[in-house]
Amino acid sequence: MSDFVKSRLNMKRRILIVDDEEINRMLLKNILSNDYEVLLAENGKEALEIARSEKERLTAILLDLRMPVMDGYEFFGLLKQDEVLKRIPVIVLTSDKEAEVKSLNMGVADFIPKPYDVPEVILARIGRIVQLYEDRNIITATQFDSVTELFNREYFLEYETIVDQYYPEDDKDMIAVNVNRFHVINATHGRELGNKVLSTIGKCIKDYVHNYHGIAGRFDADKFFIYIKDGDHAEKLYEAICASLKDVLEDTDCRIRLGVYKKASENPDIARRHDYAHLACNSIKGNYTEHVAYYDDEISKREHYEEKLIHDLDKALAEKQFKVFFQPKYKIQSGEPELGSAEALIRWVHPELGMISPGVFIPLFEDNGLISKVDYYVWKDAAEHVAKWRKEYGVNIPVSVNVSRMDMLSENLADEFVSIVDAAGIDVQSLLLEITESAYTDDKANIIATVKELREKGFRIEMDDFGTGYSSLNMLTDLPFDVLKLDMVFVRNIHSDERALKLVEFIMEIAKYLNVTVVAEGVELKEQYEQLKLLGCDVIQGYYFSKPLCADDFEELLRKEINHDN
Ligand code: C2E
Ligand code: CA
Ligand code: CA
Repeated sequence: MSDFVKSRLNMKRRILIVDDEEINRMLLKNILSNDYEVLLAENGKEALEIARSEKERLTAILLDLRMPVMDGYEFFGLLKQDEVLKRIPVIVLTSDKEAEVKSLNMGVADFIPKPYDVPEVILARIGRIVQLYEDRNIITATQFDSVTELFNREYFLEYETIVDQYYPEDDKDMIAVNVNRFHVINATHGRELGNKVLSTIGKCIKDYVHNYHGIAGRFDADKFFIYIKDGDHAEKLYEAICASLKDVLEDTDCRIRLGVYKKASENPDIARRHDYAHLACNSIKGNYTEHVAYYDDEISKREHYEEKLIHDLDKALAEKQFKVFFQPKYKIQSGEPELGSAEALIRWVHPELGMISPGVFIPLFEDNGLISKVDYYVWKDAAEHVAKWRKEYGVNIPVSVNVSRMDMLSENLADEFVSIVDAAGIDVQSLLLEITESAYTDDKANIIATVKELREKGFRIEMDDFGTGYSSLNMLTDLPFDVLKLDMVFVRNIHSDERALKLVEFIMEIAKYLNVTVVAEGVELKEQYEQLKLLGCDVIQGYYFSKPLCADDFEELLRKEINHDN
C-alpha cells in the first residue's frame, strides 16, 4: 500500500448518498456512519451541487437511478464531463436487474441491490471499490506528468524496457523534442502560457505516438522524449506540433527543435539513447533554419570536444591561457581617421588544441553559465591595459568589453564594474560595455533595469550586433544606450547592393533620431569605408584598419600613432 493511502487511513472518507426515498437514505447512513462521513442528497441536481463543492474530498457516491428533478443517469453523465469528478467511483443502488446491466455498461463502479442486504456485505462491497479506485488513481497520478499527461521520466524508462522486451524484432528511434528558449516564454509571458505550450505539445505528441504504437514522456521543463518504431516521424511531428501551437500562441513566437537517434534500440545503454537524441537536438539550438537533426559521428566528436573545454576552463583561467586581443576603432568624421578606442576580444591559446576562437567557446559557456568567469577575466585585463597605456604612453584609449546576457542577470553587476575600474585606477568612461541587441529583446524589463543602473554609475553602453535582435522602432525609443553598433551583415554589401545601402541609410536616420553615435563593424574594404563615411557613420572597426591585435602588437600600433601625431 502506498504512503499516500496510509496517510489517508486516519482520515474518515466522505461518501455521498443520493436517493429520493428518505427511508433508504437513513438506512444506508446507519450502516455507513461508523466508518464514513456521510453526505445526503435527494436528487441528481442536489447531488451535483454537493459533488462540485466537495470535489477532491469525496471518496465515493452511492446513486439511486430513479429520482425526480434529475435522475441518476443524467447525474452520472454530467459527472463524467468533469475532469476531477469523473474519477470518483459511483455505486448504483437498484432493485431492477436490467438497470444493473445498463449502469455497469455506462461505467459505474459497482451496484448494491435493493432491498439492502446484510450491513457487513454492503460495507465490504463499498470498502473494496474505494480501495480499488484509490490505488488506481495513485498509479495514474504518479505515472503521468500532470502538465502534459505524458509519462514522467521514471515511467518512461520503465516502459522503454518493456517495449524492448516485447518488440525485440523492431528497430526503434529515440526522438527528443525541445522548445527554443522556453525560459523566455515563461519569463515574458508568464508560467500559465508556458504550461499551455507544454500541454499543447504533450497532447500533440500523445496523439501522434498513439497512432504509431510509440511511447512518450516529459522529463524536466521542456524536454520531451519519444521512443517509437523506426520511421520518418520527426518531420511529421514537427509539422503537427507547429500547427497546434499556432492556435495557442497567436502572435507570440515559439519554435521547437527535434533530435533523432536512429535505431536507438540497438544501443543497450538506455541513458545514452536519451543523451544522443538530446545532443542532436541541441546541435541546432539557436539555428532558426533547421528544426530536425540526426545524431551522427560529427555530433559525437563535437560533444567530446566541448566536454574537454568545460573540463579545462578553470585550469586555463588560472594559467592565463586566455589572451585578450584588442581591435582598434577609428573615428572617421574629422579629417584623417584617428584611433579612438578598441574592442577587447578574447582568444584561448590551449596547450593541446591550439588557438580557439571565441565563436567556439563563448556560446558553449553562455549555455552553462560559465561565461561570467571568462568575462570577468577579460574586463579586468582590459581595464588594466587601459591603465597601462595611460601610464606608459600618456594616452587615454577606452576599451569596449562584451557583456553577455548571463552577466546582465547578476545582481551586483554595476558594483563589480565599479570595483574593476577603481582597482585599475581608470574612470568609468574608459570601459565601454557592449550588450548584444537580442539580450534586450529577450528579457526587456530586467535588462533595462540593469542598464539604467550601469548608466547611473557613469558607464556608457553600446548596443552590439544592431539589426539582428528584432527590436521594433517602438521598442528602441525605450531602450537606454549610448552607441549603436551596426552589425557586419549590413556592412557586407553596402558598396554593391542598393537595398543594403538603403537599409543602412535608414538605420543612420534612426540613430540620429535617438541621438546616439554609430559604430560600423566588419569593415573590410575601402569602398565600404567610403560609403559609411558619406552616410555619417562616426566610428569604424574592421580589417580595413586592423584585425584584432595581441596586447604587444596593439602597443606597437599605439607607439606608431603617437610618433605619427608628433
Ligand atoms: P562581436 O562582439 O560581434 O565581435 C566582432 C567580431 O567580428 C570579432 O570576432 C572580430 O574579430 C570580428 N571582426 C572584426 N572585424 C572584422 C572584419 O572586418 N571582417 C570580419 N569578417 N570579421 C571581423 P571574434 O573575435 O571571433 O569574436 C566573435 C564573437 O565572440 C564576438 O562577436 C563576441 O560576441 C564574442 N566574444 C569575443 N570576446 C568575448 C568576450 O570577452 N566576452 C563575451 N561574452 N563574448 C566575446
Ligand atoms: Ca562586441
Ligand atoms: Ca558585434
